[in-house]
Amino acid sequence: MQSIEEFMSEFFLARTVQIKKDIEDRSAFRQRFFANDCDWDSRQGEVELSESEVVTTISISDKESQVITHAAAPFFELRYHLQASGQSWLIRDVEYRCPKCYYSDARRTGTMGCNICSGKGWIGSEEAPPNGPAPGGSFIPPNRF
Ligand SMILES: [Zn+2]
Repeated sequence: MQSIEEFMSEFFLARTVQIKKDIEDRSAFRQRFFANDCDWDSRQGEVELSESEVVTTISISDKESQVITHAAAPFFELRYHLQASGQSWLIRDVEYRCPKCYYSDARRTGTMGCNICSGKGWIGSEEAPPNGPAPGGSFIPPNRF
């Protein structure tokens, strides 16, 4: 069985390669429609953001394993829900830490009354739009704050 550490390392590296490929695949489109110094829709910084993510906490249980990671701002903490698949793992869901709770006393006393995360402290697919957090499979959450 592949370790969760190995799976996440493999995932981070593969994601960075995919982002670089996506950016390269879009270069003709970008050159046709955008000036060189226009950052809109350029995916600028996504490679660096992907490379910055590291695992901070792993919890394993019979039903599901969870991995909390830390990346460069603005997506400081993500919580991956992993399910076993053969000799490896699959990502079943990804949530990001609720910034309102994280930067308030609710972080220490519980996350009661938060209108963003409903008190869970994490924001995931239940709160995100049905098509995912961002176009292109990016792990950037929706701009909702
Ligand atoms: Zn919250």
